[in-house]
Amino acid sequence: MFELKTFLRQQQEQDLYRTRKVCDGMQQPEQLCDGKPVLSFCSNDYLGLAADPRIAKSLQHAVDKYGVGSGAAHLINGHSSAHHALEEELAEFTGRERVLLFSTGYMANLGVVSALLGRNDLVVADKLVHASLLDAAKLSAAKLLRYQHADVESLASRLKDNADTKKIIMTDGVFSMDGDIAPLPEMIKQIDKSNSALLVDDAHGFGVLGQQGLGCVEHYNCNDDVDILIGTLGKAFGTFGAFVAGSEELIETLIQSARSYIFTTAMPPAIAEATRTSLKILKHASDRREKLQSLIQQFRQGAEQLGLNLMDSPTPIQPVIVGSAEKAVAMSRGLAEQGIMVSAIRPPTVPADTARLRITLSATHTEKQVEKLLSALESFA
Ligand SMILES: *Cc1c(COP(=O)(O)O)cnc(C)c1O
Repeated sequence: MFELKTFLRQQQEQDLYRTRKVCDGMQQPEQLCDGKPVLSFCSNDYLGLAADPRIAKSLQHAVDKYGVGSGAAHLINGHSSAHHALEEELAEFTGRERVLLFSTGYMANLGVVSALLGRNDLVVADKLVHASLLDAAKLSAAKLLRYQHADVESLASRLKDNADTKKIIMTDGVFSMDGDIAPLPEMIKQIDKSNSALLVDDAHGFGVLGQQGLGCVEHYNCNDDVDILIGTLGKAFGTFGAFVAGSEELIETLIQSARSYIFTTAMPPAIAEATRTSLKILKHASDRREKLQSLIQQFRQGAEQLGLNLMDSPTPIQPVIVGSAEKAVAMSRGLAEQGIMVSAIRPPTVPADTARLRITLSATHTEKQVEKLLSALESFA
């Protein structure tokens, strides 16, 4: 084996070394991590469904019916009636002809972009899109152009220079590290539909935005103009997996050509069955969405009073910018000493000098817990 020590030492020296905590019990604000009780503000379980007993019950019943593993890929004999029913229900929810389930959001993005584009095509991506979308562009071998974050003029100039090229314009719906929402209506005005497709990865918007929890397309009322809508099931849905929603032709093309769909085992059918219950809850969870909004307001007001450097985010992702990786790590450690778990996000996940604490809120947090977070942050303000 060749040597790996140098890289690991460098990671450590630059405060970029990543480690894992071992957590026990269910995904909820109060957890045991590394054997210690902690109050966490770092999960993507925005509606508190990951430990919902109704969804857990569905999973248990479905295991009795389907067993554990799916046993094969969807195109062999791994595609169960549970997967099929979930796809149909998600298609209805998203107002699309069809939906295709993928095992993860990462794989959905890889599969979609590489199935639709090749070497002579183009990807035009927001500068801050999720890592999986950049990897997807790479895998497709299409040329990749970035535009300034959420900047419609910058997008327009990229499009103008490449008007005749077949392309996918890709953006997160809610940006995973900044928490802001892509300016979809203005973006849509710039797009020539004849040779372009708009792909929106709304991993963090589903369940959180919109009256019915349909995410940024409901927030802006622009569902019909998003050609390829991607959602993940491991965040607000509280289960696992992902889906692509779109036209009949899009989904049939993916079934023929998306390699991360074809060459992998289908998710366990019981997970699909549990997600059907999750979807029913999520659609009618406006009380949870309202609670979440009120916690967001409470946090932002408190943090502003402390003079913390917030971003312009209306979502449960509330970054506090601190600058250097070193400072972000020190603050995250300091909070941990007070029993509060918040992730330090460092380059390369975010641009240099914008290392941050990424605070995420869940409808299952209480006002008291948010107060506790604010008073712990006070010591760093
Ligand atoms: C989390 C996330 C993904 C990956 O989804 P997984 O199901 O966790 O693989 C993709 N895109 C965005 C924007 C995400 O936040």
